[in-house]
Amino acid sequence: MTATHCPYCALQCATSLVRGSGAAPVTVQPREFPTNRGGLCRKGWTAAEVLTVPDRLTAPLVRDAAGELVETTWEHALDVVAERITALQTAYGQDAVAVFGGGGLTNEKAYALGKFARVALRTANVDYNGRFCMSSAAAATNRSFGVDRGLPFPLTDLGGAGAILLVGSNLAETMPPAVAHLAGARDAGGLLVVDPRRTATAQLTEEAAGIHLQATPGSDLALVLALTHVVLQEGLADTAYLRERTDDPDALYRSTAAWWPERAERVTGVPAGVIRQAARVLAGAAPVHGGAGAFVLTGRGAEQHSKGTDTVTACINLALALGLPGRVGSGYGCITGQGNGQGGREHGQKADQLPGYRSIGVPAARAHVARVWGVEPESLPGPGKSAVELINALGTPDGPRALLVHGSNLLVSAPRLASVRERLASLDLLVVADVVPSETALLADVVFPVTQWAEEDGTMTSLEGRVLRRRAAITPPGNVRSDLAIFAGLASRLGCSASFPTDPAEVFEELRLASAGGIADYSGISWSRLDAGEALFWPVPAEDHPGTPRLFADRFGTPDGRARVITVEHRAVADDLRSDAPLYLVTGRLLQHYQSGAQTRRVVELAEAEPEVFAEIHPRVAAALGLRDGGLVRLRTARGSMVCAARVTGDVRPDTVFVPFHYGGAAAVNELTNDVLDPVSRMPEFKACAVELVAVAGA
Ligand code: SF4
Repeated sequence: MTATHCPYCALQCATSLVRGSGAAPVTVQPREFPTNRGGLCRKGWTAAEVLTVPDRLTAPLVRDAAGELVETTWEHALDVVAERITALQTAYGQDAVAVFGGGGLTNEKAYALGKFARVALRTANVDYNGRFCMSSAAAATNRSFGVDRGLPFPLTDLGGAGAILLVGSNLAETMPPAVAHLAGARDAGGLLVVDPRRTATAQLTEEAAGIHLQATPGSDLALVLALTHVVLQEGLADTAYLRERTDDPDALYRSTAAWWPERAERVTGVPAGVIRQAARVLAGAAPVHGGAGAFVLTGRGAEQHSKGTDTVTACINLALALGLPGRVGSGYGCITGQGNGQGGREHGQKADQLPGYRSIGVPAARAHVARVWGVEPESLPGPGKSAVELINALGTPDGPRALLVHGSNLLVSAPRLASVRERLASLDLLVVADVVPSETALLADVVFPVTQWAEEDGTMTSLEGRVLRRRAAITPPGNVRSDLAIFAGLASRLGCSASFPTDPAEVFEELRLASAGGIADYSGISWSRLDAGEALFWPVPAEDHPGTPRLFADRFGTPDGRARVITVEHRAVADDLRSDAPLYLVTGRLLQHYQSGAQTRRVVELAEAEPEVFAEIHPRVAAALGLRDGGLVRLRTARGSMVCAARVTGDVRPDTVFVPFHYGGAAAVNELTNDVLDPVSRMPEFKACAVELVAVAGA
């Protein structure tokens, strides 16, 4: 039996892998751990099936003269890639080659990817799909607190709270075992859910007099400003906390003064009385009023907007007004989505960061990391382009001409897919390392088959900032290697003298050194501590340090230790409603699928449960279109169109259409989404754009 963690989301439920026989090399059993308390969701229970999917990649593939991907040896595939990289960089410079990573890669792979880009390729063009996930929350918490750790407290702290405000998070479907931690607040009537859909999570509010604030898409910022207004105007704020622990309490009053609930009602559609009631429930649970504790939590619904950073900032400001961050049993946190969404943004695969969550523009940070890597600080490139900007530059006269993709399925998960497809097709070289022939891999010139969760050792960092040990239980099939072997094989062929270890434990030792003294300090986490079963919260600055479950008890990570009050204003959705596109398109997740669906669409039980894309449409809208439940509907936005089955349901607002994004090809809703970016986080606006619906005749 091997103790490890689920391959999917950031809850990283603890599992045991039991040796199987025949077609199933292992079976998954839940394991007791504070976050999942012995529970798993359907994805976790069926995860072993991904190890044996029929179309698993088992040998490198290189596209031949006839345009077919054909099997070859690792030596040949690595030679081809190295030769083409060398030729392109010789002709067009170092930045002609770009690397794209993923929030599902282990810490070791994320670290090695960033080092490979900056030391072996010496390109500034490296970024990852975390830009599509929780980058707005990361930007906001860095701005307000000076530190970004998704939950700066253990998840189990939620259990004692009297009220929890969830803004744009559908925990009950995305990470079901986490729902147990909401039970205390739910039973106390303190569960407050902001979502344009009556999701499974929103339905929890109906069990014990909680509140579902069913705001119109793109209006969360206005709603939270109004909640803060009520807290401040009704004398519910923790004024001593604001005075002692924030830099500018007056700014908070000024910036929310005009957001009385009646004004917010006109923007959000949420009745003013409900806004007042929600603010009072949340405030009543705050420690300043003798409550059991209160939390404000955000998910992708708040974050995936062109104003996502400001929306999260408004949520942080609300938490500050109530004196929550840094208090035991209260706080603000982001529910990170991807399996290693937290660790993935700490170790240097982001365009503007170096390991240890260091900024690439800071001379001392560059000097420290350069010393660990054995290179001159001056040789390290500066900040590169963020994900969407990088994709949009591919194949342009001054942009990268080659792209290496690890752990990402861009042709499903990126916005405005027609443009992504065009940019990828314009490249001189596209290399994809993956487990299965994903939509993106099928477009590549070279495909590397790589190891996956139960076949490899490594570490993942959960949504709590807790470093967890992933353990190999089985031998990978065929001719499969780790991404670490790809970085090592290419680096040596490119003439790079820096070392690229292929043993995850060795990479982790180096990562510890590189992170030492940084914000995300792993230096005290040894492989042996992890092997002994410790699961430590960073920062861990010494080997005898117990880890840091709770941050901000005495000070925030800003120079003066005070949280920054950043004032923010509501603004409209970038592609807002108009007469020929009168509804909001919202994308999101399903219980049965994970991210681009490349893994879960191949698991029979999950695929059978949710085999096809669909659009949730309100009955009033369906009636006006003459559309029946199950009938086909065409969705059209300024960027593209698609046809799918209608699910007619009163669970969505009449101004909202919901489509899950887990499907590829003609079923990919990201053909329609908007790639306009948040100016701070560079997050695309996945969550709201104007859409027109047309019933497909005869359907
Ligand atoms: Fe747990 Fe997430 Fe895996 Fe489900 S997908 S079992 S919630 S880690």
